[in-house]
Amino acid sequence: MKYTFNRHDPIPGSIVLVLILDIKRKKERILIGSENYIELRLRGSEEDNIFYDRTAPLGSLLMNFHQDTERAWNEYGFMPFWDALHSNRWKQPELEKKGFDFLRSRVENGYPLDFYATLRISEGYLKARLIRDRNRAADIFNMEMSEIKDGLMDWTDERIKTPKKFYEDSSLSKKAIKIDLWYPTGTPEPECVIAHDSILPVINFYHSRLLSAGLNIRKCKVCGKYFLAESLKYELCSEKCRKEQGKIKKREFDARAVENSYDRTYKNECQRWRNIIHRAEKSADTSPETLSKMKSAFEDFKSEALKRKTAVKKGRFSSKEFEDWILVQSSRLYEI
Ligand SMILES: [Zn+2]
Repeated sequence: MKYTFNRHDPIPGSIVLVLILDIKRKKERILIGSENYIELRLRGSEEDNIFYDRTAPLGSLLMNFHQDTERAWNEYGFMPFWDALHSNRWKQPELEKKGFDFLRSRVENGYPLDFYATLRISEGYLKARLIRDRNRAADIFNMEMSEIKDGLMDWTDERIKTPKKFYEDSSLSKKAIKIDLWYPTGTPEPECVIAHDSILPVINFYHSRLLSAGLNIRKCKVCGKYFLAESLKYELCSEKCRKEQGKIKKREFDARAVENSYDRTYKNECQRWRNIIHRAEKSADTSPETLSKMKSAFEDFKSEALKRKTAVKKGRFSSKEFEDWILVQSSRLYEI
């Protein structure tokens, strides 16, 4: 059933998010709607009276979370309704439109947490506006929204996607995590968990189920995508990224080999210069003037060689050109 984002009579009862994990088949199913309709759906009813029912690969709910870096939920999703509860009746339609337009735009991506948040905000507002006392209405709306903000809007990618971070922060908030395990058909399958208020208990349950099944959410070193891995050691998400990593490794190896080669040539050449200068120092035929010229030529050579080495590293000069150049340099000493 499609949810309409406009002013209407609030839906009786509360909107819940239900999660079903199928670890064996590596699937997650998420349903959003009224609890009694979801129960009917899970008992086999085909009636179109819930708002969301999708099955996705295991881990999708956690891995597709996208942080609200701009605090757009608060500014465009929450504030217009908050303002509408405080303002004159004639100003309300414009504020409501602003809020509903934003919520509508948020369901387009099909991501269940966004969908759940939009319904909770919309229904929370529609229920609150029935209360006569404006301040009380705004307070009730605010309280209801704090649960949703707690579980969605103020969270970072890393906190949702990484169990370690999640548990650190959960213990920091010192909130006990309560969760409803629900067997709507009276049989062990399907086993559901329900989010009534905050989404955090569901995230907690999800992480702990994945961990107990030996599955970890990892971030791919190559493409940056999150993926499910059977070991914390896995760092690459797919065959494609494994191949890409192989190429990167080979490029690094080749670059190092080339660098080692011209570095060695440079060092050998320096040694040759030192040997020649050393011999000249020992020889009685060398005047102090010649010796000092030789030493200063060596300094010039070293500084020029370093410049050229940098040019090779930056790709402005080939390593072959560098080696060809360097090999004839020490002969300059014989010309002094
Ligand atoms: Zn990847």
